[in-house]
Amino acid sequence: MNLLDVENLVAGHGLLTAVRDFSFSVAEGTALAVIGANGAGKTTLFRTISGVHRAQSGCVRLAGRDLSAMAAPKRVAAGIAMVPEGRRLFGDMTVRENLQVAGEHGRKGPWNLDRVIEALPALEPVMDRPADVLSGGQRQAAAIGRALMCNPRVLLLDEVSLGLSPVAVDSLYRSLALLRDAGATMVFVEQDLDRALAFADRIVCMLEGRIALEGRPERLDRSAITAAYFGLDERAGEGVHA
Ligand code: ATP
Repeated sequence: MNLLDVENLVAGHGLLTAVRDFSFSVAEGTALAVIGANGAGKTTLFRTISGVHRAQSGCVRLAGRDLSAMAAPKRVAAGIAMVPEGRRLFGDMTVRENLQVAGEHGRKGPWNLDRVIEALPALEPVMDRPADVLSGGQRQAAAIGRALMCNPRVLLLDEVSLGLSPVAVDSLYRSLALLRDAGATMVFVEQDLDRALAFADRIVCMLEGRIALEGRPERLDRSAITAAYFGLDERAGEGVHA
């Protein structure tokens, strides 16, 4: 069953259209990677799905329910949680406090502090430290933990490994695998193509606001992905499916 359906979404900044007639679906319990060059529109897409940015037209459905008219807090309550690029934690609050605040504003569900620490073991030693003093990997883990405390049905992760050391990225993907094993549904932006291909059940390549290529990683040809990524292929932009 599809849990998230994005239909003909259009969004922009002033006169610039950053997301053009964008449609995709995510099945429950699967991970979709959104890849694309800088400026392709990935962050605008995520912000529009989460309701932080207003769509010009189109529709976002969660388990069939149309969320398009809802502001961001209501979408969190409905089950969409976003981990933004840059991670935006409350810096002077401890990790524990960051998580607890999120828990107070989310849905009811199975995620609590103990389960979050189990899925994100990097957090255990830093629970009582202020978010400002964390390393990049710890901050990303805390931001994911905060989103989980909202008991989301869909987790949107923007630039999931940006700026992290290889060790921190390994640890992060181990945690994401644990989340997926627990049934989580994820949509994530990943600049590292190998990581995206290795982890995702499906890939969507975004080029100038449109889908240039999509499909299951094992069915996509590497050179077609590179061409779609950089807009080098004449098929790119026409929504090639595999
Ligand atoms: P990056 O990887 O660089 O973050 P992206 O794929 O996430 O890129 P967006 O950040 O969504 O892409 O940007 C899409 C387009 O919208 C770009 O042309 C960008 O310059 C423009 N844009 C993004 N945010 C704004 C804004 N606040 N005001 C004006 N234009 C913006």
